[in-house]
Amino acid sequence: MIAQVILDTSSSQLDRIFDYEIPFLLLSDVALGVRVQVPFGNKNATAKGYVVGLREESDVPEEKLKQIQSVLDGAPVFSPEEIWLAHWMKERYFTTLSRALQLITPTKENRQRREKAFFLAEGIDLDEAIQGRENPKSRRQREVLLALQTKGVVTRKELGATGLSLSAVETLTKQGILVSRMVEKEESIAYEAGWEKATAHALTKEQQAAVTAILSEDRRPLLFWGVTGSGKTEVYLSAIETLLSQGKTAIVLVPEIALTPQLFSRFEARFGALVACTHSRMTKQERLLVWQKAAAGEVRVVIGPRSAVFAPLPQLGLIVVDEAHDQSYRSEQAPRYDAREVAQVWCQKKKAKLVLGTATPSVEQYFLAKGGDYGLVELSKRIGNVAVPRVDVVDMAEELASGHTLMFSRRLLYAMDRALKANKQVLLFLNRRGFSAFVSCRKCGYVATCDHCSVAYTYHGKEQNLQCHYCGKTVPVPTVCPVCGSKYIRFFGSGTEKVEAEVRRLFPKARILRMDKDTTTKKNSYHQILSAFAKKEADILIGTQMIAKGHDFADVVLVGVLAADGLLFEGELGSTERAFQLLTQVIGRAGRKEGNGLAVVQTYQPRHYVVQAAAKHQAEAFYEAELAARQMMDYPPFCAMVCVMATGEVEERVQEMVTAAKEKLEQGAGLEVLGPSPARLRKIQNQYRWQVFAKGKDEEALRSQVKEVLKELQGRFGGGVHLQPIFPG
Ligand code: ADP
Ligand code: ZN
Ligand code: ZN
Repeated sequence: MIAQVILDTSSSQLDRIFDYEIPFLLLSDVALGVRVQVPFGNKNATAKGYVVGLREESDVPEEKLKQIQSVLDGAPVFSPEEIWLAHWMKERYFTTLSRALQLITPTKENRQRREKAFFLAEGIDLDEAIQGRENPKSRRQREVLLALQTKGVVTRKELGATGLSLSAVETLTKQGILVSRMVEKEESIAYEAGWEKATAHALTKEQQAAVTAILSEDRRPLLFWGVTGSGKTEVYLSAIETLLSQGKTAIVLVPEIALTPQLFSRFEARFGALVACTHSRMTKQERLLVWQKAAAGEVRVVIGPRSAVFAPLPQLGLIVVDEAHDQSYRSEQAPRYDAREVAQVWCQKKKAKLVLGTATPSVEQYFLAKGGDYGLVELSKRIGNVAVPRVDVVDMAEELASGHTLMFSRRLLYAMDRALKANKQVLLFLNRRGFSAFVSCRKCGYVATCDHCSVAYTYHGKEQNLQCHYCGKTVPVPTVCPVCGSKYIRFFGSGTEKVEAEVRRLFPKARILRMDKDTTTKKNSYHQILSAFAKKEADILIGTQMIAKGHDFADVVLVGVLAADGLLFEGELGSTERAFQLLTQVIGRAGRKEGNGLAVVQTYQPRHYVVQAAAKHQAEAFYEAELAARQMMDYPPFCAMVCVMATGEVEERVQEMVTAAKEKLEQGAGLEVLGPSPARLRKIQNQYRWQVFAKGKDEEALRSQVKEVLKELQGRFGGGVHLQPIFPG
């Protein structure tokens, strides 16, 4: 018997199948998916690998055939289906088989990692123990016991992260109320005080219809379009409950910095220990533990960011992708897999249902649902019929014309004052990149835009010029507005810090929290800021993209969008789509509970279709306008498109490589190639980045041409420079 083995290496030269003879003694141990030790290379060198195929005979001459040395684990690490998936990923994401396999299953590390954890001692009544500690002196002990009440266990590591007192834990242990034990270190999710515990609600008619659609026999992916607060999570819970009762299992994918703890606690309250969650900071070992429990049927619902899609659940019935438009489902590192695509092929393979839940579908998801490739079910109302917020759009050019030069319009200042006087909360949102990246006229709102590409030029401080990140064209910075002749043409430069200082000056009594990259460097600070705001420890929260999604803040009655323009002109394809999604989400934060919400959107483009559609809550109008624009410009989904990016330390080499890629791509039949141009971030960690874009009618043809280009150029240029394709999505 012959085993087909791939080596556990990321080297693409070695990424092929090697044949090995199976020695008689190992015949019963070698199976598809097991890990093996094999001789490789000269002398006594060996390597680890995976068995991905079994056959009777080999094309390799018998005298050259080597034997497998040993089988490494008791059981296969991959199922035949997972090996199939790895092959699919290799083709789709231009990666190696072993990289794909490594993503699918975290392999064993030898070290076992254990940590100390504290549990309630046998025979102790927790409620009694809590009641016995009403005295302010034992407040810290009480806090520990309350944490135990919700979680059952407190680990040593969590103590630091949650502010619980170690000495209180030690005292309780001495008193015999707690016992400690070493446990498998499964980095536990951050402890969150005061989240609502989920109880099963009686579903509304709309929710019921959604559950029925999810459980139906229709095998198409289902776009589950429901405004925020319309009860989507409740629908997932109900559908999964039914599936569990049929012996099935489910995966729930959430965005990278999502509210895993909040969501997780709702699932846990419903399904207890049948739920496990993964997160991006887990070690391989920790993830392996979840994988083992899942494979063994101990855990039947796995929640986590994109890599949770690989959870090896038997009897998979459903994969839910929550916030399905979110960009974090696509990996930023090679292999750049997209968990939504993987989920889709995996559901097909496993005959499971794929549900894409979102309040703001991507343009492509909308397109596929309208075309019937996806099923569609909607939740059109918020729970309790809470009204959507009113939206006032303020034309900042008019503000300036009438002599008001503050970054807050009069409308917004008035509304802030009223909200604060009523003891309510305010969210102030501004765009992540400040708004310094583009150049605009403060009098008429003109934005400097590339005439080839209809995307905004990006201002480059170092070169003092404007660059189109799409076609590479550069122009000098204008000193007067080419439209109205005004001298008020400038780059918007206003970070969150500046906004905070201004709010402090105008509202000296208000308590302010700020959330941006600077204030969230520590691991839990993101959740700490949000939960402090949720507990009304502040009146105003100023933030970037990070505050757009997330918790329900019942007392937020006002949302201020300081400059929608920064969103509208990010200088990239797809930025209008993201602008609409963000605006819609931010606006939706107002008036969640009582429906008396107001959003004030400041912009120089009050009539821009993104602003208009978001302000009037007319999502369909936006999607139709966007699709019409894309059809006219011949952009996806009306064509296939790829960005091929070269990276490396020496910029000339990078430029040479990307130019060669352009020439080679142009040989592909029916391909249109744009560029080369520097990437939006031209240099990251000393790596220069240049790109070309290729468009074509036929996706398969485009992909196979890209494959040719990668193979040939990587060989020709060798190390030091690297080429990778990025497909939009
Ligand atoms: P979404 O996931 O769409 O944002 P949720 O499922 O979180 O919505 O629901 C929003 C709120 O409404 C939650 O507090 C939830 O407990 C509550 N809720 C959901 N469905 C119902 C229902 N059928 N009846 C009463 N309350 C509900
Ligand atoms: Zn102007
Ligand atoms: Zn251009």
